[in-house]
Amino acid sequence: AQSGRKVGVALVGLGNYSESILAPALMAAKHCELKGIVTGTPRKVPKWQEKYGIADKNVYSYDTMHEAANNPDIDVMYIVTPTGVHMKYSLIAANAGKHVWCEKPMAMNVDQCQRIIDACNKNKVKLSIGYRMQHEPNTIRFGQYAASKPFGQMQSLYARAGYAGNGFPEDYWRMKKDMGGGAMYDMGVYPLNGVRYLSKMEPIAISATHDKSHPHIFKEVDETTYFTLEFANGMQADCGTSIVKSFNKARVECEKGWYELNPMSQYSGVKGLTSNGDTFAAISGMQQTLQMDNDALAIINDSPVLVPGIDGLRDIHVVEAAFKSAADNGKRIL
Ligand code: NDP
Repeated sequence: AQSGRKVGVALVGLGNYSESILAPALMAAKHCELKGIVTGTPRKVPKWQEKYGIADKNVYSYDTMHEAANNPDIDVMYIVTPTGVHMKYSLIAANAGKHVWCEKPMAMNVDQCQRIIDACNKNKVKLSIGYRMQHEPNTIRFGQYAASKPFGQMQSLYARAGYAGNGFPEDYWRMKKDMGGGAMYDMGVYPLNGVRYLSKMEPIAISATHDKSHPHIFKEVDETTYFTLEFANGMQADCGTSIVKSFNKARVECEKGWYELNPMSQYSGVKGLTSNGDTFAAISGMQQTLQMDNDALAIINDSPVLVPGIDGLRDIHVVEAAFKSAADNGKRIL
C-alpha cells in the first residue's frame, strides 16, 4: 500500500463469514478497506458491488483471481473459503504478489500449511491467519499473564468451544472431512490455539477421544472431540470442542488464583474474570476490525504480523495428532 492510503482487501469466497461479519468489519476499519471480491457465484456480484461500491475491474472468479497481480487496488487477498481449499487459493494469491490473510483453520495438514508459508516467503508477501482472538484485548491481557504471573505459577488450563447445532445438509462442506468439516477442525482450533496462546507453551503430547451421539447425522466428521494436551513441565490442558454441544470458556488455574475468558471465542461479549474479583468488560467494536487493522498496519509499517503462518501450522500439527490419537483409543502421542 502507498503511504497515506488504506490497504485494499479482496475477500475470496463470499459465504456467511465474509458477508455477515468481515465486510461490515471492514467498513469500520481505519487502515484497510474492501476493494475487491473473488467469487464462484456470479449472482452474488451485483449485490456486493452495489452495497460496497466495488469497481467492475476488482471483481474476480477463482479462475481469474491470479490476474489481480496487475491490479494496484488490491494489496491483500483474504481467503474465506472452506478449509479444504485454503491452500489452493492462498497459493494463487501469494503467486499474484498479494499479501495473504487466511482464515482458520489454516489448511488440512501440515504439508499444506508449509506450502502456504513457503509461497508467501518466496513472493515476499505477508501471511496472517484469521485467529481473531489474538487481537481481542482481554485475551491479549491474559496472554501476558503467562510472563507476569500475577497469580503465581500456572498449574492447569481448561478450554472449551462448541455450539449446539443439528448438522447441515449432507453435501455442505462442513459435513465433509476432506473439506475441513467437523468439530476439531472448525471449532477445536479455538481451545487449542487458546491454550497455546495463554500458556505461551507448545504441547508435547495429546490424547483425544471422539464422542459420537448422532452417528446417523455426522457420517464423516467428528461431532464432539475432547483432548488433553500435555506440556514439558507436566502441566495439562483439558480441552473440548463440539458442533452439537454448547460450551465456551477458557480458564487458567494458578498457584494463587485463577483467571478466565468467559466466553472465550464468541464474536462479542468476551469478558475477563479473575479470582481477585476483577472483571474486564468486553469490547464494544468488532474483533475482526481490530484484527484486520492490525494486519493492515503490519503491511503499512512492514512489521511482523501478530498471527504468522507458523502459528496456524502448529495447530494443524496437533489437530492431525488428535485424529490419530482418537483413532487409537486415545493413545498419548504427538
Ligand atoms: P460458508 O459455507 O458460509 O461460505 C464459504 C464460501 O466459500 C462459499 O459461499 C463460496 O463462496 C466459497 N467457496 C469456494 N470454494 C468452495 C467450495 N469448494 N465449496 C463451497 N464453497 C466454496 O462458510 P463460512 O463463511 O462460514 O466459512 C469460510 C471460512 O471462514 C472457513 O475456513 C471457516 O473456518 C472460516 N470462519 C472463520 C470464522 C472466524 O471467526 N474466524 C467464523 C466463520 C468461519 P462463493 O459462492 O462466493 O464462491
